[in-house]
Amino acid sequence: MMNLNQTTMREVIQEAFDKTNNLRWQMAITRAAQELDSNPFMHYDGHALVILSESNEIYSANGTCQCKAFAHGKPCWHRAAARLVTRYNARCN
Ligand SMILES: [Zn+2]
Repeated sequence: MMNLNQTTMREVIQEAFDKTNNLRWQMAITRAAQELDSNPFMHYDGHALVILSESNEIYSANGTCQCKAFAHGKPCWHRAAARLVTRYNARCN
């Protein structure tokens, strides 16, 4: 599990949520928030968020992802999570 300051992360999530009117992205952000809170198989390597998916695939998400949603040009929670972590880090450093 990512070691994150909950208050800061909550602010970052709220901001990200307010920035988009796209329902799919809002759903992706909501899922990303849940995963960041509970998924032990996530790690930020300094460049991308590395995630072990439910289907046992390893995704390295930043602007891109290797999942099916991304392949179909759809928002995915992996990229949403990566963006949240990037914004969170920008705040904390
Ligand atoms: Zn993805």
